[in-house]
Amino acid sequence: MLTASESALARAVLVHGPIARSALAQRLALSPASLTRLVKPFLDHGVFLERAHTADGLVGRPVTPLDVAPEWGRFAGVKLTGDRAYAVVTDARAEVLVGGERPLAATDAEAVCALIADLVGGLLADLPGADVVHLRAVGVSLGGVVREGRAEFAPFLDWADVDLAPRLAPRLGVPVTVENDVIALTEAEHWFGHGRGIPGFSLLTIGAGIGHGLVVGDRVVRSAAGADLVGHVPVAASGPVCPLGHRGCAQMLTTASILAVCARALGRPAASDELAALALAGDERIAPIVDAWADALGRLIALVAGLTQQRAVVLAGEGVGLFAAAEEHVRAAIAAARDPRADPVALHIDDSGFAAWARGAAAVAIQAAVDRIDLGGGSAV
Ligand SMILES: [Zn+2]
Repeated sequence: MLTASESALARAVLVHGPIARSALAQRLALSPASLTRLVKPFLDHGVFLERAHTADGLVGRPVTPLDVAPEWGRFAGVKLTGDRAYAVVTDARAEVLVGGERPLAATDAEAVCALIADLVGGLLADLPGADVVHLRAVGVSLGGVVREGRAEFAPFLDWADVDLAPRLAPRLGVPVTVENDVIALTEAEHWFGHGRGIPGFSLLTIGAGIGHGLVVGDRVVRSAAGADLVGHVPVAASGPVCPLGHRGCAQMLTTASILAVCARALGRPAASDELAALALAGDERIAPIVDAWADALGRLIALVAGLTQQRAVVLAGEGVGLFAAAEEHVRAAIAAARDPRADPVALHIDDSGFAAWARGAAAVAIQAAVDRIDLGGGSAV
């Protein structure tokens, strides 16, 4: 178990490395001597390494930046939906090395564990260097209520009180972390993504549902308040009626809602990619739908930025594909819904689409592995 200072050091090197010792000392408010003392066991245990000499850009002096050793390990992230498992293998900085997906033949915990083990095993086998750099940990994320790793309620999988980690870990031979998918993606954006270095922001995910994650004071907010907390807030005076009977609620932003409305306008179904291309080309059948989507999204962004009092908002998820065609309209809608004297909302777009979800699962596995680093014994971590 790391001390608070060791934990802060591990995170800083992981998130900001390769990083010069001087920059690290400044970031952690440590003297050079204290930093040297703190860094040494990480080097001795093979968690960190010193990169080759490079010139300091400011003063031209040679520096040896600290970085996380690549041999510290690889990580797998798996996002479960109601009918598929999406997996990635990443490095220690949640950079995706390889990815894949499989349909779920059954959703009982044993069948899902077997499928995840097979999927992750297959990805690792295809990866060069697997004999040198081993898998250190696996993260699994899913929609629903997850408390301390236990899936209390996962409606897409028809799960109630499923403890997946103890079933899955023996199959994979490494520790497993299970987390709510929006929380996992928020952690990923916070440490490794568009929220890196931003102490407070909202994450809005646009996809099969509408998710909201929140970082305040450099920590992800974990709440027991329930599920789908922004999915049904009103965002338009008119608009489609959601399954709960609301007209113009945030469900109108989901991919399913947009696909249904566009299919009626086109007289045929079309995939998300085609809609995004038609929208960018200014197709007149699609344009009013994209405008309504942009208005509603702008209102939702202004609402979360106002209520959470955080001025940065990260947009992610597979539904963000429409944003490129709607950006100007979204920004105008945010401005219209916000007091002009307020700070403007800083918008960050994660356009990695669905892959972001599995990367989020890998990020929580990395964070849990940092918490497990043991500098006390003779063995490496
Ligand atoms: Zn609704």
